Amino acid sequence: MSDDITSILKGWGEPAYRIKQVEDARRSGIRSWEDVTTLPKALREKLTEVVPLWSVTPEAVAESRDGTLKWRLRTNDGMAIESVLIKHARGRRTLCVSSQAGCALGCKFCATGAMGPGRDLTAREIADQAFLAADVAREADARVSNVVFMGMGEPLQNTEAVFGAIREMHSPDGLGISARQIAVSTAGWVPGIDELMNFDIPVRLALSLHAADDATRDQLMPINKRWPIANVLAQCRRYADRTGRRVFIEYLMLEGVNDSVADAKRLATILRDGRFHVNLIEYNATGGEYQGSSQERRRRFAEELESAGLYPSLRRSRGADIAAACGQLANTGV
Ligand code: SF4
Repeated sequence: MSDDITSILKGWGEPAYRIKQVEDARRSGIRSWEDVTTLPKALREKLTEVVPLWSVTPEAVAESRDGTLKWRLRTNDGMAIESVLIKHARGRRTLCVSSQAGCALGCKFCATGAMGPGRDLTAREIADQAFLAADVAREADARVSNVVFMGMGEPLQNTEAVFGAIREMHSPDGLGISARQIAVSTAGWVPGIDELMNFDIPVRLALSLHAADDATRDQLMPINKRWPIANVLAQCRRYADRTGRRVFIEYLMLEGVNDSVADAKRLATILRDGRFHVNLIEYNATGGEYQGSSQERRRRFAEELESAGLYPSLRRSRGADIAAACGQLANTGV
């Protein structure tokens, strides 16, 4: 449960079982204090005045053919955000959370980027996405085993809230998700990488690179003009050396843009020091100017990386039919 409710109840001198009663109410799908009838009426009224039971409310949910679920959630001040729960074998689920409502970074392939800036989400708004998803997973005898900060927004522009939410997800009193199973994905917000390497919970870092040269990356991701590839990779190397953890490189395969054999050779050259693991990602058209690479081009690109000693993972696209896949979150499809 979210820290603020716990600390309010503790601060008021309420016994520990009250916290458990609130937790049980949230798990059973109760959405407002008024309906938490296990609590005395006076306490419910007092809580109603100071803190909402949930910081986000599910408004709509869509289920993909592959079992992926996408929610549109509404914050208490009316912002629409999305989170996506991806189904794996043996009851495992990966949750993709949003860290901002909208995004100011304007990556050209991204539906959220096209929405423009919104606002930072609070720690509780981020953590509540995970608590809601965990409840839904539990009902299907499954569990949220992994969390990726790859939904709406640039998480490293909102580190205080993101780190607070990670504490709740990781805590044994929260969701107990292993630090190694939590990944923070950045478009290359360099000062945030510095903060992440000093964060005491050893989560993973993923960099959305998507190009192997500055001219191409400048076109795709305006942030590259501020921190070009050499700068952001140097910061990632510092992160890897300081933490002993390899950095995931996310590489969206765009037909005719970044997917030639020459691109693969360049990528292998700039990443060839053992600190990186490359994930090649299928792109889902968002109605913009880009198309996903053909299977043949993806295969040749991967082979070229392999021959240079980098062994990429090929990430299948999930939830594409409900606009839940990478680059598609923009409050559509639900
Ligand atoms: S890819 Fe990420 S950082 Fe870029 S615009 Fe989309 S949400 Fe923002």
